[in-house]
Amino acid sequence: MNKEFLFELLRTGSVSGNEAELEKKIYDYMQDKADQVTVDELGNVTAAVNPSAPFKVLLAGHADEIGLMVTAVGSDGSLMVTKIGGIYTTAYPGHKVRIYTKKGVIYGAVANSREIARNSELKPSDLRIDIGARDREDALKYVELGDTVTFDTDVRELLNDCISGRALDDRLGAFIVMEALAEAKRRGASVGCYAAATTGEETTGNGAYFAASRVRPQIAIAVDVTYTSDNCGISEALTGDIAVGKGPVLCNNPSIHKKVNERLRACARKLDMAVQTEAANGRTGTDGDTMHLTGVGVPFALVSIPLRYMHNPDEVGSLRDVQACIDLLAEFFVSCTADMDLKPF
Ligand SMILES: [Zn+2]
Repeated sequence: MNKEFLFELLRTGSVSGNEAELEKKIYDYMQDKADQVTVDELGNVTAAVNPSAPFKVLLAGHADEIGLMVTAVGSDGSLMVTKIGGIYTTAYPGHKVRIYTKKGVIYGAVANSREIARNSELKPSDLRIDIGARDREDALKYVELGDTVTFDTDVRELLNDCISGRALDDRLGAFIVMEALAEAKRRGASVGCYAAATTGEETTGNGAYFAASRVRPQIAIAVDVTYTSDNCGISEALTGDIAVGKGPVLCNNPSIHKKVNERLRACARKLDMAVQTEAANGRTGTDGDTMHLTGVGVPFALVSIPLRYMHNPDEVGSLRDVQACIDLLAEFFVSCTADMDLKPF
């Protein structure tokens, strides 16, 4: 795995609707690793191996991240915001942030006080970002309404191959699908292999709709993060016994295709790789749900990366799990044949 490129992605801002800088980096990176690399009107980057093959398998990892968007500027020059995606509002006060403006990144501090810290009902509209502006006029020289905002955090290496950083959800997934595709090419996969770094997953799911509608795959796999129960995680009853560092997570639910899941399990067995299992109800809350309902309908599965503290300033995941997901998905690409029968009986 190209750790340097992964870290470069994790340092790049890509709030939902504003993914172009990150997508361009993926577009450039994939030029010599795929047979074809395309970008669509939304900015989805889709790389392909064997693009003329009629049987197609599409992997999708979303390139966008959650964040804030500037909605107004106070007379004192402070920025008011709304949320983009599922944020924890109480994680912002006292934190450094980056504002992605047309003139480049500027920095801010989110106002905090005893009253704010005690307010567990804090709403995004209660947040104020101090950029050091003298007044509204001064702030508007730099900032435009609609500019996006993220935590000003960086990727860090922790113990035991763990990393922390902002929005590993789901830039890890976007990285994994591209590395798996590159490996499938090296290993001579025979079917049409596609990897899409999708836009908009955290807000509208529009990227996955555009990508899957255009590729028209026979099989789709969403690669995203999932909650763990190993460290201040959510209840084991909700998510199953899932831990960081213990391998890719496969999901059993009513919409995930059992034969695709079985093939993924067979690939893991072949690689002697441990996989974890989670169970969920009808929807997965990922690009998988969207791709599933494109065209004439697309059988799909979900491969998840275990992640602690999802949607917080510092999420924690494992590079070992990232590599295992790459290996599993490359093996899946290579295992697919054009005569696969996906009917249950
Ligand atoms: Zn995600």
